[in-house]
Amino acid sequence: MRLLLVEDDRMIGRAMRQGLADAGFTVDWVTDGKSAEGALRDGVYDLVLLDLGLPGKDGMSLLRDLRRRHDPLPVLIVTARDEVADRIAGLNAGADDYVLKPFNLDELVARVRALLRRRAGTGVPLLQCGALVLDPVRREAQLGGVPVSLSAKEFALLETLMQRPGAVLSREQLENAIYGWQQEVGSNAVEVHLHNLRRKLGPDTIRNVRGVGYKVVGP
Ligand code: CA
Repeated sequence: MRLLLVEDDRMIGRAMRQGLADAGFTVDWVTDGKSAEGALRDGVYDLVLLDLGLPGKDGMSLLRDLRRRHDPLPVLIVTARDEVADRIAGLNAGADDYVLKPFNLDELVARVRALLRRRAGTGVPLLQCGALVLDPVRREAQLGGVPVSLSAKEFALLETLMQRPGAVLSREQLENAIYGWQQEVGSNAVEVHLHNLRRKLGPDTIRNVRGVGYKVVGP
């Protein structure tokens, strides 16, 4: 996981970078608004830790620009401004969470992890596995750039598998993921949907691991 750290205070920045690196994150650190603006346009980050008071361009403007171009990048505001109004403004501008300075480094790392988990759940704009791309928001699937028409259940099944690439999910797990409490499930419903998905996407897209379950393999 790669993080962008935007913090102009050298001492705080160093401590944050060290703490996050120790926790296993790759951290890029910039110390002014303009550098942050450039880095954010690269679009390679999983999350940004954003100070509000910055030379060049302030954090709130960076955040507003990010959301204006519909970038869903998780933003954790890290600021000394403990005024309630600033926090509300940050959250309203599209921040996902905030931490007030001085903070506990372990708590900071925990909050970063929580945001990344949340993103892996529903915040991800596109799911990709090889040539297969799924857009959970638009409910569209593409294989090698060509749209594939899927039923709602086929889409949900594929989405569940693609959210955990490489993981083997049991039939029961898949069933639980795509059927609500109120829905009647036929005994071989999941198999039928999997069969149809393989027919549409190619026989090797979804592999059966005998006795365990299924996993998605990028074609
Ligand atoms: Ca600052």
